[in-house]
Amino acid sequence: MQIPCFIANWKMYKTIAESADYLHSFEKELQPLPQDAWEAILAPPYTALATVSQILKQVPLPIRLAAQNLYFEEQGAYTGEISPRMLRELCQYVIIGHSERRGLFGETDREINKKIRAAAKEGLIPILCVGETAEERREGKTWRVIERQLSEALDLGNLSEVLIAYEPVWAIGTGMTPHPSEAEAVHFQICNYLSQGEKSARILYGGSANDKNIEGFMKEPHINGVLAGGASLSPEVFAKIIKLGSAAKISR
Ligand code: PEP
Repeated sequence: MQIPCFIANWKMYKTIAESADYLHSFEKELQPLPQDAWEAILAPPYTALATVSQILKQVPLPIRLAAQNLYFEEQGAYTGEISPRMLRELCQYVIIGHSERRGLFGETDREINKKIRAAAKEGLIPILCVGETAEERREGKTWRVIERQLSEALDLGNLSEVLIAYEPVWAIGTGMTPHPSEAEAVHFQICNYLSQGEKSARILYGGSANDKNIEGFMKEPHINGVLAGGASLSPEVFAKIIKLGSAAKISR
């Protein structure tokens, strides 16, 4: 069985001081858990990465670090951007193609492909986000959209490891979720799609996941974890998601 993975996407929340406070409470909540049954990945804003990375070096728990984005060039005159080489010193993972980047910042599948390749070249593990909008869902285009996002993002990428987050856009930050069985059906299709290209990946669900609905999602066979936004901002709630989610996976 793959170890379930729980990702906290803090988006544009938390100062350096708030991030450090979070870590101290989070660590305390997680100490009593069996340490081989889960992995957590925190994705703070860029400004807090160095501090969180330093704190995590002192914490004997399976907590890794991700950036929320990167730019695909190695270095150069790209004001305001951060390269994979810079991130490599701080974190192991990077979120790529989040729907907020696609929707608010106009990121295209082609750019996402470049980012995936640049991350992998530098040894960062990409967390690729895919998912359909409400309209695409209504029109019955869910799988067509996800297949396109996967094929363009992963095109010619010689990836040794990737994580996929299936995040229906209509579920992000809305309190609405698909039924776990509906999400499972998409995860199963993603899993089949990857195996045709002789790839495999942990596939996580994202979109209004919280401590109340986590067990339903984690009982599904192809859901290997969750990516949480809002519910990950509280260390107590995110720790509860990990506790209930990893226990639900073991008891399946
Ligand atoms: C996200 O940021 O990817 C996300 C899933 O957010 P939320 O959990 O708040 O819906």
